Amino acid sequence: MTDRKAELAQNLARVEERISAACGAAGRRREEVTLIVVTKTYPASDVRLLHELGVRHVAENRDQDAAPKAAACADLDLTWHFVGQLQTNKVRSVASYAHEVQSVDRLKLVGSLSAAAARAGRELGCLIQVALDAESGERGERGGVAPDGVEELAAAVEEAPGLRLDGLMTVAPLAGPYAGRQRAAFDRLMELASRLRASRPAANMVSAGMSADLEDAVAAGATHVRIGTAVLGDRPRLG
Ligand SMILES: *Cc1c(COP(=O)(O)O)cnc(C)c1O
Repeated sequence: MTDRKAELAQNLARVEERISAACGAAGRRREEVTLIVVTKTYPASDVRLLHELGVRHVAENRDQDAAPKAAACADLDLTWHFVGQLQTNKVRSVASYAHEVQSVDRLKLVGSLSAAAARAGRELGCLIQVALDAESGERGERGGVAPDGVEELAAAVEEAPGLRLDGLMTVAPLAGPYAGRQRAAFDRLMELASRLRASRPAANMVSAGMSADLEDAVAAGATHVRIGTAVLGDRPRLG
């Protein structure tokens, strides 16, 4: 094994242990939580090594980096998640490789994604990104719709050709009432997710939790955790 592969294997094992322990503590089965490795700022060669180590879900947050990486790894059976703020002029590119767009947070984006999915002849899974710290009618600083905007977006995704409503995503807020209260933030996301699922049982994905707070997310009930640095190492600033 190369040094890098051994390092990634060791990091993955540690993350795996954390997820298993968190599932155990919450009385959940390990299979209820899917690990998504966030490979942003790291090269396609790392994605390839991760695949060799059994990773099947990867995430990226910038189309400029993600598009060439996905192309370089097109031979691998990977599910690509797009988790960054998405400009409508990047939608056509993202729709060509992403399987899941986790950052759907405005109606205009729903329209563009639908058109791009139709053009590409693909079905795109969509998560509504919720900004728990956003005021009614506003969006979060790191993207996301305010909680009271979820229903309108969900209905739009459901009706949009080429799109599939899969659930909700959030990033724990750095400011506002939930700052430093990850568990409370993820509990709130779960409330919104339960409400969504009540009328749309198939929209059962709940994406929450990163390297620093995956335990809180698993405890709250997340189905998907998005882990970057704990697997790949510290990113250079602005990563
Ligand atoms: C970078 C990123 C992650 C992973 O964060 P880490 O702290 O590196 O685990 C998760 N979600 C989103 C939306 C990200 O941009």
